[in-house]
Amino acid sequence: MVVGMSAACTTVSGTGRKQFNVYSTSQENAMGAQAYQEEMKDAKIIGSGPVYERVQKVGARIAAAAKQRHAEIANTMVWEWTVIDDHKMVNAWMLPGGYGAVYTGLVNFVQSDDELAVVMGHEAAHAIARHGGERMTQGAFAQLGANAAGVATNSEAVAQGAAIGLQAGLLLPYSRKHESEADELGLYIAAQAGYDPRSAIALWRRMQSQGGAKIEFLSTHPSEDTRIELLQQEMPQAYAIYKRTRVDGTASDAKDFANTKPPASK
Ligand SMILES: [Zn+2]
Repeated sequence: MVVGMSAACTTVSGTGRKQFNVYSTSQENAMGAQAYQEEMKDAKIIGSGPVYERVQKVGARIAAAAKQRHAEIANTMVWEWTVIDDHKMVNAWMLPGGYGAVYTGLVNFVQSDDELAVVMGHEAAHAIARHGGERMTQGAFAQLGANAAGVATNSEAVAQGAAIGLQAGLLLPYSRKHESEADELGLYIAAQAGYDPRSAIALWRRMQSQGGAKIEFLSTHPSEDTRIELLQQEMPQAYAIYKRTRVDGTASDAKDFANTKPPASK
């Protein structure tokens, strides 16, 4: 049975971009859960202590902000943030369904909770924007060949694509388009969670100067300048969200807000 192509068109929450995705949210989330189990098999998981507590605190605020901004998709997600003990990995990720991981290497690298929140917001944004399903759709089409365009919306082909999607790995680097979209959505999520979005600029610059292959943000290539330019374009709006959140007391440290400076330039 071939379902209409319209069934495979979804819209990204927050940016309005149309995406081609043959998977349902529940299919994506199930695949996320499965891939997550695989990833966790050999991981050294930290389940208590200050680093764990810190990640959970920031993660809970990111989840709450995401649910405010993207209720429909965010409420389908489990919002787990597993802390993995690997000091060499300056990285974090979130699979479809809200199965997230933060490496101790990232926690050591960031200089504030604001910076940590920017990264976790970015990773959450990949899941919010359903980049995994979109990429698996592209992967399935590529693998299934030219006929895929005609058949990939039937359920058998979807199941086949799902297997291929998992095989190809949900954790491969994202495209530049996906990275930029996650930067934008993630910045707003972090701001809404009460974290200073301006910290993103310093963080990216520092990652670039100390960069390595293990830094997810650098694994695809919006160049540093392009990335920072785009972030600066989003900054006034992100800062306004942050300011509103801080003033209405949503942020736990709202009282400190009076001491922060407004953005230097537009
Ligand atoms: Zn990313």
